[in-house]
Amino acid sequence: MSFGPRNVLVEHMVLSRIKAIAEAAAFRHEVGGILLGSYRGRDLHVIDASAPQNSDRWSPTRFWRSPAGHQAFADAAWRRSGGLVTHIGEWHSHPELRPTPSVIDRASWLKSRREQRRPLAFLIVGTADVCVCADAELGTIRALVPIDQDEMGVLFGHPLSDPSRPVTVS
Ligand SMILES: [Zn+2]
Repeated sequence: MSFGPRNVLVEHMVLSRIKAIAEAAAFRHEVGGILLGSYRGRDLHVIDASAPQNSDRWSPTRFWRSPAGHQAFADAAWRRSGGLVTHIGEWHSHPELRPTPSVIDRASWLKSRREQRRPLAFLIVGTADVCVCADAELGTIRALVPIDQDEMGVLFGHPLSDPSRPVTVS
């Protein structure tokens, strides 16, 4: 498994969908789900997101995703797409304007990354901005920045010369 610069394309539909879900909860508590998409070479293409399930649990500052409903969502997409669309990451909300990963987020992402054994994208939706994070060097997950966008979505990539913003997972 190689690690290195990779971009994450997030479709506008996904961004508006998770924003709407977080707003429906009025950001009073964290909500979340999984991201579905496909691998395009070294890039990740996020095309859908699962909504919170009844069996999930949450608090104002944490979100616990129950595996069952989200896995069924991923399995159905996998079957429909003939194996092209798969579980490609996770998302949750933060009640802050410009969300940044918490210590718990970083630990939980690293755990998912170890379990899945493939690149994943992690997305936090805040009341104004989204934070998209993905693999950087071995053992690190970095916050990406928007580098391009078109009618399909927003492309997030590694800042070319901004080593000051690593989200290091240890
Ligand atoms: Zn968080």
